[in-house]
Amino acid sequence: MNIILFGPPGAGKGTQAEKLVAERGMVQLSTGNMLRAAIAAGTPLGKEAKQIIDAGELVPDSVMIQMIDEAMDSDTVAKGVILDGFPRTLAQAEALDEMLAGRGLALDTVIEIKVDETVLFGRIESRAEQTGGSRSDDNAEVLKQRLKVYHDNTAPLLPYYREKQILKQVDGMQQIEAVSRQINEVLDS
Ligand code: AMP
Repeated sequence: MNIILFGPPGAGKGTQAEKLVAERGMVQLSTGNMLRAAIAAGTPLGKEAKQIIDAGELVPDSVMIQMIDEAMDSDTVAKGVILDGFPRTLAQAEALDEMLAGRGLALDTVIEIKVDETVLFGRIESRAEQTGGSRSDDNAEVLKQRLKVYHDNTAPLLPYYREKQILKQVDGMQQIEAVSRQINEVLDS
């Protein structure tokens, strides 16, 4: 099974992806985590990405598409992938369809984790406290820009997936365990 966890920054995509990894043995492909690893390793890509991430903007499509293409090796796709933070643009979504088709696969479900925008600021602030400020983009000012980018570039993917009849929604305002239950119900239905 190959799925996308979809939603704005702070919706809980990473948290829920990690639960699915633990419970179902799927593989989480988080482009944000991959970029942060590149930053920590001090690679040229990491250096370029840090500036973009700290501005709340998007890393170029070509870079992200190649990153996911390389991550989708045969072992990974055999377990089923949870895409977390990818795709974020229509070009990425179309490239993903091609990548999966080229491997004889398809997306099964796109799960939108719906959250009121007002709570996102509080969540990002508490994440900043929990991670000791290790994510330099977790502050109100950058979040505002990340939300704008989400509305302008990423939210338009919702109709794309709705048309394909693979879009499902869960209430992300509930507790982590309750959101997890909803996601599992979607995946088992
Ligand atoms: P995330 O951890 O998913 O919130 O990603 C953190 C930041 O990494 C984003 O705000 C973007 O700057 C960058 N990023 C992550 N995934 C992508 C993507 N699929 N396309 C473009 N930029 C991305």
